[in-house]
Amino acid sequence: MKYAKSLLYGIIVNASNCDYHDYANWQLRCPKCGEPVYLIGASKRQEHARLAPKSKQIVIVRSAEVTASFAHFKGLADDVCENFNSQISKSYIEKVERINREQRLKIYNKKFLEIVGYNRTIRGCFFNAFKKVNRVDNKTIKSIEKDAIEDFLYVVVNIAQLQIGAKKLLEELKSEINPLIRFDTSKAKKSEMKQFANWAKALDVDRQMILVSEAADFLKTCAAKAITLQLFELSFSRLIFYRTDILDLIKVTDKNIEVQDVQYRTLIEFCVTELAQIFALTDWAGAIQ
Ligand SMILES: [Zn+2]
Repeated sequence: MKYAKSLLYGIIVNASNCDYHDYANWQLRCPKCGEPVYLIGASKRQEHARLAPKSKQIVIVRSAEVTASFAHFKGLADDVCENFNSQISKSYIEKVERINREQRLKIYNKKFLEIVGYNRTIRGCFFNAFKKVNRVDNKTIKSIEKDAIEDFLYVVVNIAQLQIGAKKLLEELKSEINPLIRFDTSKAKKSEMKQFANWAKALDVDRQMILVSEAADFLKTCAAKAITLQLFELSFSRLIFYRTDILDLIKVTDKNIEVQDVQYRTLIEFCVTELAQIFALTDWAGAIQ
């Protein structure tokens, strides 16, 4: 059969694309019965001459191309499944994708913060850091925070930087034999590191980027607007973790306005870069399973 359904990505995949993807981790199933299927790769036979065993004559074996296909593990041709598969249309494929996307959006509406790794310990991190280095009242900090998250969201939503950054990171990650080498794992548990390494190894960059851009689109919704502060805090909390100069960056000094402005822009840029990393490394496909 030509088509299989990927449970991981919630899409119908065409066997003839197997050259471009490593399907081993896509959780492929028969679209009709739901049983696991496996990929039979395409093969090519060159035209060649051979000696016919009985007549002892030279015969020409024509070239042939066998197209890639999926088959049930049980090995038996299942007429109902084959028949269903041969009737899979463009609109069926689109419908499966649409249903899956709607399902993801529903889950994002409910637990986007949980998916991207926000937790209670992060709450208030910008506010507290700002208070620590500046002698200003809470109301002023809240107003600065409000401006910052608005600017942060504006950049995240309107500039392609998020997706470009995410893609670059994923490509670098895939080129690494040990992807963990790129990260500070000093506080990670062994099981977490193993899980991440397996995830990175199995990851399909193109598919992940589709999910990243979908998540970026989610940021344009009202539901996302309500959690901008948390997304900003999530990004900022990572900066505190590994950038020793971050407190200098948020310190209000008597430096001239241009210098302060550069500092502020740098802060927003750093936070957006962090969010790009978070989006790249979030297991969007796994989040709805
Ligand atoms: Zn089947």
